[in-house]
Amino acid sequence: MEDCIFCKMVAGEIPCNKVYEDELVLAFYDINPAAPLHILVIPKKHFENILALGDEDMKYFAAVKRAVEQITKEKGVDKEGFRLVVNTGDNGGQTVHHLHFHILGGRFMQWPPG
Ligand code: 5GP
Ligand code: ZN
Repeated sequence: MEDCIFCKMVAGEIPCNKVYEDELVLAFYDINPAAPLHILVIPKKHFENILALGDEDMKYFAAVKRAVEQITKEKGVDKEGFRLVVNTGDNGGQTVHHLHFHILGGRFMQWPPG
């Protein structure tokens, strides 16, 4: 989608610190980390948020799960744990309107979140 920063990363028009890539998803380090490990996993196709994913798009959801599994194992947080976050809309604190999954780890994550 035009003017979407994450679509530009997928297209290679903006560099990103890539962690993982396959046919359907891309993962890279968050530019403003909120935890010692902070990685974003995005579908390569533009969806505004998680509600925009249709039944026919579940392959992206499955690919995100596979990526999360691989990345958390590779970064060594699979056993100690991590948090997976999908901020959605204004109250959810979403600032980039291309669906993304935050992998947060490397420290204890408080609950409830702020
Ligand atoms: P949201 O608030 O929408 O859930 O999360 C957007 C995330 O994207 C934020 O954590 C922010 O730091 C990250 N972000 C915004 N712009 C860029 C960028 O240009 N590069 C990278 N790597 N992360 C970005
Ligand atoms: Zn996009």
